[in-house]
Amino acid sequence: MIILNCNTVQEKLHNAGWHMFNDLYIDLDQKLDMRCPNGHKIKMTMRNWQEDPSCEICKEEELKKELSNIYSRVDGEKRVLSLDASTGTTGWALFDGMTLRKADSILITGRTAIARIVKLYIWLIKQLDLYKPDFVAIEDIQLQTFENYKGDKRQQVVVYKTLAHLQGVLMFVLESRKIDYALIHVAKWRSYWGIKAKARSDQKRSAMLKVENKFKKKFSEDASEAICLGMYVVDKHLKSEITMWRK
Ligand SMILES: [Zn+2]
Repeated sequence: MIILNCNTVQEKLHNAGWHMFNDLYIDLDQKLDMRCPNGHKIKMTMRNWQEDPSCEICKEEELKKELSNIYSRVDGEKRVLSLDASTGTTGWALFDGMTLRKADSILITGRTAIARIVKLYIWLIKQLDLYKPDFVAIEDIQLQTFENYKGDKRQQVVVYKTLAHLQGVLMFVLESRKIDYALIHVAKWRSYWGIKAKARSDQKRSAMLKVENKFKKKFSEDASEAICLGMYVVDKHLKSEITMWRK
């Protein structure tokens, strides 16, 4: 166990832009009077600070800002959330019609696959509450062909099975909330964007470049793929090539 003295704690906080008002430090579970780098005065224990050194008031303000930005929908446009779901990094994008509102990726960690699936499930529910999409586009899963796979073939089946578990959970959430969704095969959006590369790393790089050209902004590989998927779905709908909203 690490025992911190008052000066060590002060120094640690100071280096992160924080301040502690207490003169006496007892232990990790003592409620301390602190000031965050943005000047908010809050009470927090060192245990909590070490786990997540972020201020509750800052978080609330960020969320409010995010809500006011994101809730201003473009009139008459449908909102689409696209997901390249994985038990590692999940890329996602949000469109109002053809307007890209936001795109990012989220890294899910956890010791077991089911623990990571549960975390992604909780994350999806939060996204649905926050953005209230009309439609969710999910990249379909596929069993990688064995010919191109150099490793253990059984391992490849295990990955596929895990992704199938994840997909089932996502479908359950959307079904139970009566939100329309579609599973889109990766080959569909790749051909729409004219991505012809064969190797996976080249395909990812190609998606990133196409998105950067189109939106004049750089996104991560995973976010870029989610943008490609989302835009394919929105465009196909506008051209009435696929119908996807319930009447
Ligand atoms: Zn703060």
